[in-house]
Amino acid sequence: MIPDMVIRTAAVAPFFKNGYVVMCETTRQAVLIDPGDEVDALLEAAQADGAKVTAILLTHAHLDHVTGVAQAKSALGAPVWLHRDDLFLYNGVVEQGRMFGIRVSPQPTIDAFYQPNQSIAFGNYVVDVSPTPGHSPGGVCLAIGPANGEARDLFVGDTLFAGSIGRTDLPGGDLETLLQSIRSVLFKYPDAAPVYSGHGPATTIGDERRTNPFLIG
Ligand SMILES: [Zn+2]
Ligand SMILES: [Zn+2]
Repeated sequence: MIPDMVIRTAAVAPFFKNGYVVMCETTRQAVLIDPGDEVDALLEAAQADGAKVTAILLTHAHLDHVTGVAQAKSALGAPVWLHRDDLFLYNGVVEQGRMFGIRVSPQPTIDAFYQPNQSIAFGNYVVDVSPTPGHSPGGVCLAIGPANGEARDLFVGDTLFAGSIGRTDLPGGDLETLLQSIRSVLFKYPDAAPVYSGHGPATTIGDERRTNPFLIG
């Protein structure tokens, strides 16, 4: 639990994918993570909080994580960030929709690509971006915490879930790569670090280290 950090989340059918608004309460600056079909609820929450969203950050580019980007960008005027290795998925979002029998609108161009050791500041916080390929080639972990401290809340996309891990049967997915990303990137964080996944409830690094059936032993 990081003081002054406000986290709002929403998820809707059919994918029940978690989108997030993370705000620095002191400055009201915020980031929007993975706007999908629940984008209306996220924008309402941001407005109710008086949040000034300075960046739209994508953990990866599967369609459930990006279908709200156009609406979010036009409402907020904030730049959209993605890892370059997921650009083929982002640019293929209409085609992804077709695979699921869903009509998806093309999304606006990406404004910035995460660089190695990328940090993105907002308010009194910083987002440390770490590549975590495996579920998709350009998946990242967004670790958010005070710029002047060590604590981080982890927004992991579909890399790690409470009691499970991301699927690796979609284009560019690879199980060994995914397990390596979890062990070498996510498990470097302390047991107390909260984990906010792309689907399902929040968990902690310690709980997953101890009990996740894909990772114990
Ligand atoms: Zn995904
Ligand atoms: Zn997802």
